[in-house]
Amino acid sequence: MEGEETVTCLTTNEIKALAKPEFAANPEKFYPTETFAKMGYSRAQCGICKNHYWRCTEEKVTCGDSNCDGSYSFIGKGLAKDGKYWTF
Ligand SMILES: [Zn+2]
Repeated sequence: MEGEETVTCLTTNEIKALAKPEFAANPEKFYPTETFAKMGYSRAQCGICKNHYWRCTEEKVTCGDSNCDGSYSFIGKGLAKDGKYWTF
């Protein structure tokens, strides 16, 4: 299966790393909107921390941060007896 690429979502940090020179030069104004749109990404707001992030699938509802992904996964699935979330 060599040569095949799996499409994965990039985290905000990964995207920022890709665009580092531009971000470094103009971190607040620059956002490669067109580039990411062409790549199939869309702008979305994290359902947990409310930060904005880029996503490549409508199914993704968090920014990709481990805290947010973890919390979302456990919503509605109950808490451990001590009141803490289960962790892997
Ligand atoms: Zn988040």
